[in-house]
Amino acid sequence: MFCPVCESEYEDGITQCADDGTSLVERLTADNTARDHSEARFVPLHNIGSPAEAEMVADILRQNGIRAAVQSGGMDAFSPLLSTTAPGALVLVDERDYERANEVYVSFFGTDTTPLTGMTAAEDADAAAAADAAWDRDPAA
Ligand SMILES: [Zn+2]
Repeated sequence: MFCPVCESEYEDGITQCADDGTSLVERLTADNTARDHSEARFVPLHNIGSPAEAEMVADILRQNGIRAAVQSGGMDAFSPLLSTTAPGALVLVDERDYERANEVYVSFFGTDTTPLTGMTAAEDADAAAAADAAWDRDPAA
């Protein structure tokens, strides 16, 4: 048995923490512990153009009480999410804050996922057209 407040472990059969009188629980989870665990699960909110901008977004989120972090290039756990075509930085938020983080993000930046340095839809279309043109150029012709 564990105390959800001080996280002391007790033998089975004991129902109250000797230190703080809290009712013990069978196991500690993120939901029943008071302490803010550093191993909170962070989930990616957005992939931002650069680490500096990602930090700025994370700052805004933190100012709104959201646990946010930034993970940039070459990282381990989230590297599959940072594709080779889109380096940059991921803004991560505690999954328990995700919904709220999204609301804050949208209220600041709208629904565009690349609000700061990303290409506009028009530029994106131009780039796609240019790529198509290059592809169409047959060297044998
Ligand atoms: Zn306790």
